[in-house]
Amino acid sequence: MNARPGIVYLVGAGPGDPGLMTARSLTLISSADAIYHDRLIPPGALDGAREDAELVYVGKQPGVPSVPQEEIGERLIEAARAGKSVVRLKGGDPFVFGRGGEEGEALREAGVEFEVVPGVTAGVAATAYAGIPVTHRDDASAVAFVTGHEDPEKDESAIDWAALARFPGTLVFYMGVKRLPENAAALIAAGRDPAEPAAAIERGTWPGQRSVEATLGTIAAAVERERVKAPALIVVGAVAARREALAWLERRPLHGRRVVVTRARAQASGLAALLRNLGAETVELPAIRVEPRLESEEVRRAVAEIGEYGLICMTSPNGVRLLFEALDNAGRDARALSGAAVAAIGPGTARALAKRGIVADVVPERFVAESLVEALADRDVAGRRVLVARAAEARDVLPDALRERGAEVDVAGLYETVREAPSEEAVEAAQSAAYVTFTSASTVRNLTEALGGRFPANARVVSIGPVTSDAAREAGLTVDVEAERHDIDGLLAALLADAAE
Ligand code: SAH
Repeated sequence: MNARPGIVYLVGAGPGDPGLMTARSLTLISSADAIYHDRLIPPGALDGAREDAELVYVGKQPGVPSVPQEEIGERLIEAARAGKSVVRLKGGDPFVFGRGGEEGEALREAGVEFEVVPGVTAGVAATAYAGIPVTHRDDASAVAFVTGHEDPEKDESAIDWAALARFPGTLVFYMGVKRLPENAAALIAAGRDPAEPAAAIERGTWPGQRSVEATLGTIAAAVERERVKAPALIVVGAVAARREALAWLERRPLHGRRVVVTRARAQASGLAALLRNLGAETVELPAIRVEPRLESEEVRRAVAEIGEYGLICMTSPNGVRLLFEALDNAGRDARALSGAAVAAIGPGTARALAKRGIVADVVPERFVAESLVEALADRDVAGRRVLVARAAEARDVLPDALRERGAEVDVAGLYETVREAPSEEAVEAAQSAAYVTFTSASTVRNLTEALGGRFPANARVVSIGPVTSDAAREAGLTVDVEAERHDIDGLLAALLADAAE
């Protein structure tokens, strides 16, 4: 047995948006020996867990046998007694319809130390994301959180419908979808006005959040018609009508649309984050991964002779990052580039250079190799040494053109893009995508091959530029949208314009 006594943290993970997890919850997750978690925790919530942490799913899913509540308590006690630091991670707040109270009591009885970490509860979060203020100076000076689904083992209803009908404020029902027809009828029978505004919020704060507006008298039918499913909240109160002015998330241009992002892992998150800010739900299929090749002879030579180049051409942000890594490995820094003119293929590459203190001398307006060749047209490269630092398997347009003009060109392939098999979950999620984005020819080939026959049937294909579009057509796809500017911003602009049609 461990000398240090264990401890259990009853932690709220918030309503679904990972951004709503508390700083305390993330700290505890990153140091826990064991994490016992529910089903409804934010995507990626456990990403920061230690590699050797024990992750145990103890959630409840309707219709599926689950670990009984007492057993969860016993397992937490056992783990703590073994000296472990245990996180019990629950959706929303652990003490709001989360059975955290019962678990805390069991721990106290067993003499196990615990701490409670509140979480953002769905009752305030899903409502806020739907544009419903649960209190409002004009409409509601109180709010009640009510369970819409009682413990089936209780014989008598503990819900005092008469009191709720008189309650001077907003009613927020958790677990209220299944019994909504009975509950709404009970409220009306007890005297609450059937004309009062009401709303249902499904999967609040998650991608795909959906709201249904009605009145207390019509909400049950509306929820049935729209097939609202758990997890959902039912809100009854004048504040529900404030959505008209205050709904914000559901007004974002890509709200409710699923977009497949196919880029190398390091870059996918940048594009995915931009899409999510516009309201999209993203599926990241990291079809390719950047594999550095800094040990190769050509890279060693380029680094050793870096001071002899009159012109250095950079063709991607990854290339910039890795060239500087290679310089750093050799004990050099940005000053090694001081004698050369530096050309960047596009603004992303130029930004990556700027971050390292280098302002590119040449950035073409269109971001393909041909444009860089054009932009370099009035530079005298004859007899000069030129370095093209790029991916190992890139096209030879740029080096060939420079050689034709008499330059002595070295190519340093700093990295390779390597195929990664997508997870079954991601492939499944991709099936209902509205858009598939392609940012390079290699992502097209890798994704189509990885998906096999399961390319999403109704997705529109968005390509970053003509070379990528050609690759897509070669793979048997129809390109629906091609960016006018061949960079991420251009791709986003083209996608937005298409979505607005
Ligand atoms: N402890 C949680 C509630 C658990 S009870 C909390 O504090 O939020 C489960 C119920 O919470 C669901 O049936 C649903 O009514 C509500 N709920 C949880 N997450 C939700 C979400 N993202 N959107 C809407 N309702 C949610």
